[in-house]
This record gives sequence, C-alpha cells and structure tokens, in this order.
Amino acid sequence: MTITDSNRAGQDFQCSLQSPEPSLFEEFLPLAAIATTPLGAKRLQVLTELLQTTLWVPASVTSESSCIQVYQKPLQDHLAQLWDQQKSLVFCLTTGAVVRLIAPLLQNKETDPAVVVVDEAGKFVISLCGGHQGGADRLTQLIALQIGATPVLTGASNRLGLPGIDVLGVPYGWTKGEGDWTGVSAAIARQDPVQVIQETGSTLWRSHLPKHHSFQFGFPEFTATVQEEVLEPTARVWISAIQRRFAPDSGKVQWHPRVLWVGIGCERGTSKALIGQAIREVFAAHHLAEGAIAGIATIDLKADEVGLLDFCRDWLRQAPKDCALPLKCFSAEDLRKVNVPTPSDVVEAEVGTPSVAEAAALLAANLLAADFVTDRAGAKLLDTNPSSDPHPPLLIPKQIVRQAGQPGAVTIAVAQSPQEYTGRTGKLWLVGIGPGELAQITPAAQSAIAHADVVIGYSLYVDLVAPILRPGQIVEALPITQERQRAERAIQLANWGLTVAVISSGDCGIYGMAGLVLEELRAQEWTGTPDVQVFPGITALQATAARVGAPLMHDFCAISLSDLLTPWEVIEKRLTAAAQADFVTALYNPKSQTRTGQIAIAQQIFLQHRDRATPVALVRSAYRPDEEIRFTTLEKLLDEPIDMLTTVLIGNQSTQMYCDRMITPRGYLGFGR
Ligand code: SAH
Repeated sequence: MTITDSNRAGQDFQCSLQSPEPSLFEEFLPLAAIATTPLGAKRLQVLTELLQTTLWVPASVTSESSCIQVYQKPLQDHLAQLWDQQKSLVFCLTTGAVVRLIAPLLQNKETDPAVVVVDEAGKFVISLCGGHQGGADRLTQLIALQIGATPVLTGASNRLGLPGIDVLGVPYGWTKGEGDWTGVSAAIARQDPVQVIQETGSTLWRSHLPKHHSFQFGFPEFTATVQEEVLEPTARVWISAIQRRFAPDSGKVQWHPRVLWVGIGCERGTSKALIGQAIREVFAAHHLAEGAIAGIATIDLKADEVGLLDFCRDWLRQAPKDCALPLKCFSAEDLRKVNVPTPSDVVEAEVGTPSVAEAAALLAANLLAADFVTDRAGAKLLDTNPSSDPHPPLLIPKQIVRQAGQPGAVTIAVAQSPQEYTGRTGKLWLVGIGPGELAQITPAAQSAIAHADVVIGYSLYVDLVAPILRPGQIVEALPITQERQRAERAIQLANWGLTVAVISSGDCGIYGMAGLVLEELRAQEWTGTPDVQVFPGITALQATAARVGAPLMHDFCAISLSDLLTPWEVIEKRLTAAAQADFVTALYNPKSQTRTGQIAIAQQIFLQHRDRATPVALVRSAYRPDEEIRFTTLEKLLDEPIDMLTTVLIGNQSTQMYCDRMITPRGYLGFGR
C-alpha cells in the first residue's frame, strides 16, 4: 500500500485509519490503548472507537470521544491494574517510556499481553513484546496495514520466513507442552539444525516452509512407550501425543496435537474428581499427554451424567479461549457395531452394547477421520502424517479405575484419530484483491489476507499479494481452471477450524470466488459455521474506467461473454437489452484463444442500437506492469487485440472522447452533451 507523505504527516490523520474490520481484531480483545498527548490520542482514537475499547489518557488530554477515559493515578499504577485484564495493550508513546512502564510488570511470554507501540507520526507500528504467543506481531501487522505504517517486527522467525516455533500449532489447536522453548527458539534463530519428530497431527505446515530452513524431519515408529533417542541434535521438536519430560536446558520442546479420544463408561453418580483422576492415572501410566485429548466419547445414556459434564466444563476453563472439549455420545445401537478387544456380557446386559468406553473411543476417533481426512469422493484432502494409520486400532484398551472412599467406577479406553481435532471455529474470508496492484487493495482486505491461517487463490493472484503474506502462513496457489477445487479445499480447511482467505482478482463477488464458495456451502447444507465474510475489492470495470476517464458516470452494466457457465442465448439476450437500454457496458471475459466469435456478435448487437462512432475503450491488465490502454470505436472494435486480460468498455449514446479521456456526461452541463 502506498500512502503519501502529506497524508501521513497531515492533520487529518484520523481519516487515514480506514474503517478496519472489527472482527479481524477479535483475538486481540480485550485491548486497551494508552496515549499521553492529544496527537497520540487522536492517532489511536479511531481504532478504539471501532473496537469499542477504551483509550486511556491523562487529565491534560481532553476529548469528546465516548471511548476515551482519563486515568487519575500515575500511569505506572494505572498500567499495573490493566496488565492482567488485557490481552493487548497499544501505546502511542516513545518506546523508551513504554519499556520502563512495562518492565516491572513482565512475567512470562505465555501470559503477558501483546504490547504494541505506534509512533505519533503514525509511520511505524512496533511489536514490542509478546510477539508470538501474545500475538503482538500479528496485531502490529494489522494496525500497520490499517494506518499505512511500516510494521516493525524484530523476531528471528520473521527474518527467516518461518512460523514461530512457540505458535506453530496454534492454527491446528495443538497444545503447547513442556520444554525449553527459549533454547529451541534460539537454535532456530541461529539456523542450527533442529530435528523435528512428528508422530501425529497435520503436516500441512511442513509443505509451506521457505526453501531454506534448518529443520530435519524424522519419523520414528509410534508406540506408547517411545524412549528418547540417544542422538544429540542441537535442538529437537516433538509433535506427539506422548508426554515427555525434559531437563530445563534440554533444547527440546513438544507440541501435542489433539488426537486422543477418551472413551468413558462410568457408574451413575461417579464424581468429576474420579473421572479426572482416572484420566490422569491412565495417561500417566501410558506416557500420554493430557494436552493431546481431543474429546470425551461415551454412550448417549451418559449425556446427562453430572460428573462427566462437570469434568468437560472444568477442563474447558483451563483451555485457551476458543478451544472446546467436546462430549460425543453414541447410541447403544451404533456402539455394538464396533469390534472391540474387550467386550463384556455384563455391560451388554445393562446398556445394550458389549462395550461403551472402547467402542465410543474408536467411533469418535474414526468419525473425525471420516469428517476431515477425506472428501466426499473419498480422496485424501488434509495432510495427515504419513506414519499415521487411517483406521487406527485402540491405543489403550479399557482400564477400570476405582478409588476407596469415592462412589462409582470409571472405565477408560483411548483411541487415536489420524486427524487432530482443532477445537476452533473456522472462518471463510472471501477477499477481493482489486485489479492487480497492492495499492488498490482495501486495507481491510489486506488485513484479512495477512491475518488468515490459510490463503488460497489462483497462482497469479497469490504472487500479487506475496508482499503482505506472513511467515508460516499456509499458502495454496492452484491453477486457474480449478475454481471448484479451490472452493472445496477452502471449505474443508475452514470446517476443520482454520481461518481461510480465498482471494479473487477485482471483487470477489463479481465473477469471482465468493458466489462459488457460497453455492458450495449451500450444497453442503451449511448452517452458518464456518462464518463467512466477504471483503469487497475494486472490480475490473471500476479499475478500467478509472484508467480511461469517467465512462461510468451514467447507468451501466457488466456482461461476461464467457459461455462456459451461462448459455449463449442468455448472454445474447442481455447484450440486446443493454444495447437497447443505452447502458454503458463493460464486457468481461471478452475473448479467449478458443472462444473468439462472441465479441463479434456482441459488436453486431450494439451496432443495431448505437452509432458506429460510439467510443470504446480496451483496457488490458489495468494496474499491472503490462497494462495496455487502447481507444477505438464500436465499428473498429475488432481491429484491436482483445484477450482474456482485457475489459471492453462500450460508451452509451452520449459518451465522448476528449483529450484521450472517455467521458459519459452525467448531465450537470446539460443531458447528453
Ligand atoms: N472478479 C473479477 C472479474 C473476474 S472475470 C473482477 O471483479 O474484476 C475475469 C475478467 O475480468 C477478465 O477476462 C477481464 O475481462 C476482467 N479483468 C480482470 N482483471 C482485469 C484487469 N486488471 N484489467 C482488465 N480487465 C480485467
């Protein structure tokens, strides 16, 4: 995005923050902003008004904004109060002052809020603290995109184009385990070889690393009792359902994808404490990580079991904001169809299935696999670990846990799904990226692209937005012909829990991907999740019009000459209607290498209703480096080169050329002159 210096330095800078999409900021809330000067307050005011958050100022700064509140105590004391309650803090203050203010409050990077500093001139946005886990790097990028400032990110992973190792699993809902996170981050920053042993979870992240990185991948056989290898790499990252213990400076870290489904059978009245204890005991005995629990599975008779429900609820309280511990309940009829290692006649007599815990765990693990690993045609879509079994056997057969003095008994079995449960609600952002230059993309669209977990689009458009992509983002560029695949892929990743930006040139909803994605969703009986949001873009007709003058000043229409998806008779009917009604007309998709006749027919139709000398503009690749602009007349239209990168603008009966500008009079100086 280019923004002029006068705009940056000017007094009307409030306008430079161009109505960002509030939903893009969701994960950074609650957010508080702090400014100590009138200029600083104005700089942050639009952001805080939009997000309905508080902008704190000293009594010396006056303002009428409803979002502004005055702090009465010294700022240091006031900040101490805000610190624990905010997810993000945005200062408009010198960095030195901010460093001194926050220094006594910093605890650790897992809990400290994101701290971002904006300079008074609005030229720079600095990610000061909490860059990865606090989300300060992302927040910095979002604010910078919105105000046309330069984001200042100093983290090494950013320089190396890598996802931060301490946030690697966040998009997939992985749980961060114990480990020497500082040591491993330092090793990555030094570009030392870092061994990655991924036993489970999506491998999507690995196919989107930069060409040069220092990760080495290894796949030891998965067993519940894996011993650590004796080999001494500089650092090691485990991605596993197993809980490993590391020494403080071990140079080892672990992520736990949520792949384990805990099947539970319990007697009526079993307490949540006993359920919790049973899971802890079984997991400890088998070296499994509790962070790898995807959910609980049981029989539908237990859907109202108080201890079980309380356990799921309590677990939720410790989990990150958007993570849920699902309780999946199956009927006895479904459970009895599952082959299990330890069936029981007693259980069958009681509830109508020989197995609850084992069968429920297996059903839940395989259901998830069926939902996410394959598409409707059965093809594998999500990238699962090559070593994982698509139909895994039970990991832990049933274990019965009782405790003296506690009522009830708990039966536990564990199955491992080949696909992790993200626990996140996905989003589909349908983004128009304008005609072909970064400066022509709206700030909201830029922010959506920079912020999404995944960016999907036709390769040419992906190249176009490359400067705003983020290290570690999953970027999938597909050939131009594969629109449906792009839509299906985007929906599947969003159903899985990721935030997916689907990019289209121009406007996403004008012969773009927005309609296709929504149609696909409707075909899949979508009920509103994943959430869908459309980000508008400058469409070809606006972009080309701007390059040639003001041809759209009166009523106009767009017609695509592509008969791939629309019958030609329909297109002809619309051409006739547009020509008759004297609409200025933009022809999209005018001519391809194989489809050459339609533009000639269109010309003939227009010639029946308009003068032969009617001005016509042919704009090819507007706002791209190879842009070409030609003016001609309706009569001579076919003498000029026209292709699929061209938009044809046909004037109405009063459109005129003047000084190489195409002008359609609105009527201010007399109608039709
Ligand atoms: N969603 C796009 C349109 C896609 S249809 C939009 O809103 O602009 C593709 C057609 O759009 C092309 O055949 C061409 O006619 C037109 N087009 C797209 N980008 C263009 C550009 N930069 N310059 C001229 N025409 C363009």
